[in-house]
Amino acid sequence: MNVKVVKFGGSSLADAKQITKAANIIKSDDKRRFVVPSAPGKRFSDDIKVTDMLYNCNKLAMENKSINNAFQAIADRYNGIIEELGIDLSLDSEFETIKKNITAKAGSEYAASRGEYLNGIIIAKLLGYEFVDAAEVIVFDEDGTFNNDKTQPKLRARLKGVEAAVIPGFYGADENGVVRTFSRGGSDVTGSIIASAVKAEVYENWTDVSGFLVSDPRIVDNPKAISVITYKELRELSYMGATVLHEDAIFPVRTAGIPINIKNTNRPEDSGTMIVSEVPEDEINKYTITGIAGKKGFAAINIEKAMMNSELGFCVKVLEVLEECGISIEHMPSGIDTLSLIFPYSDIEGKEDEVLSKIRKAGAPDHIELEKGIAMLAVVGRGMRRTRGTAARIFASMAHARINVKMIDQGSSELNVIIGIGEEDFEEAIRRIYDMFINSVE
Ligand code: ASP
Repeated sequence: MNVKVVKFGGSSLADAKQITKAANIIKSDDKRRFVVPSAPGKRFSDDIKVTDMLYNCNKLAMENKSINNAFQAIADRYNGIIEELGIDLSLDSEFETIKKNITAKAGSEYAASRGEYLNGIIIAKLLGYEFVDAAEVIVFDEDGTFNNDKTQPKLRARLKGVEAAVIPGFYGADENGVVRTFSRGGSDVTGSIIASAVKAEVYENWTDVSGFLVSDPRIVDNPKAISVITYKELRELSYMGATVLHEDAIFPVRTAGIPINIKNTNRPEDSGTMIVSEVPEDEINKYTITGIAGKKGFAAINIEKAMMNSELGFCVKVLEVLEECGISIEHMPSGIDTLSLIFPYSDIEGKEDEVLSKIRKAGAPDHIELEKGIAMLAVVGRGMRRTRGTAARIFASMAHARINVKMIDQGSSELNVIIGIGEEDFEEAIRRIYDMFINSVE
C-alpha cells in the first residue's frame, strides 16, 4: 500500500520550530498519511518534558495539593506553540477539562496521556489532517495490557477511507473508556501498531539521531552509523542497553513484515537506519559485527561441587531456589564441576545470605560464592555466521588490554557473542572491540 506511518518523538516536537520541521517532512511526501506524535519533549538539556510535568500534576493532586501553577506552566507551553505556529486554535476548554479531571484524581496514566493528546490536536490542525483520538482505537485490557487482537480491527475500521490522520502516541483506553498508557517512550509502540493496521510500506520513526550507532558515543569516539540491521540483531542490542526505540515497538511491524526506518528530524537528508526482517544476500555488511552494547550491574553465584556433572538433578535444585527467590538468570556458564549463574544484582540485593543458604541446603555444594560488579557485553552481527575467528578476535582484543574475561556465551544462532567482564573494564572493552572490528577494517 502507498502509505507511510510517521512517528515523531518528543525532541522532534519540543517547540514550534521543531514542529515546523516535522510538518515540512510530512508534507514533502504524499505517502506520509498517518502521523503519530509524542508529547513535547525537552527544548534544552535542563528542560522538563511535558509528560513529566503532567506526572507531577498528578502527584500534586494525589497529595491533595493545588495543581494551579504546575498546570498553568503546561498550558503556557502549548499556548506558546500555538501562537508561534500561527494557527487558529484554542485549547482552553480542553485545558479546563483536563485540569478538572487531574484534580479529581483521574490518575497518572490519564494525566500523562494528555501530553500526546493535546499535541495531536495541534499537529492535526497545522497539517489539516483528521484528529483520531487514540482512546477510540488503541484497546487495552482492564489489567492495563495492550490488546492487539481487539485493536487491529478497530483501527482498520476507523481509518478506512481516511485520507490522512494524526493519532496521538503513548495511550489508548480499556473497554470501560479508562485511559491507559504504554510504558515510557510508548509512542514508538503506537506507531508500530498503526503501521501494521494500515499495512504501511515503511514505519518511519523520526527522532534526534540519524539511526543506530555501532556503539555508544559516550564510550566510543564518533562511532559509525548502522545503515541496515535485522530485527533479531536489534533485539539483542536493545536488550543489552542500546536505546533509540521502545522494545515493544518491534513486534507489531515485524509480524507484518514492515521495515522501520529510524530518521533524524534535524537532518532529514541522512538515510538513517533501516530495521528489516531479512537482509538481501547482496547487502554484505562491510564489518563482521553490526553493533556492540552492554550493561553493568550483574552478579554471579559461582558454585563448585565434586562430581557435579554426574549428579542427577543438581541444576534443577539450584534453579528452583532462584525461582523461589524471584531471581531471573540470564546466563549459566558451566564447567565439569562448576556452575555459574549470572543475573542482575538488583534481583538478589538485600537477600544475598538467604539465597546462598537456601542453595547450600538444596544442593550441598563444596563451595559457593557471590561475585558482584560484573558487566555483560554483547557483540552482535549477522556477519558472524559466515566469518571464522570472531571469538578469537574478541579474546585477542581483551588479552591485549589485559582484561579478564569471566564468561563467554555464543548464541546458537551465531548472531551474538556475550562476554562477562568486571565493571571496571566495561568502557575499555567496548573501545577495544570497536577498534578490532571496525577501525582495523578501514
Ligand atoms: N511522552 C511519553 C514519554 O515521555 C511517551 C513518548 O514520548 O513516547 O515517555
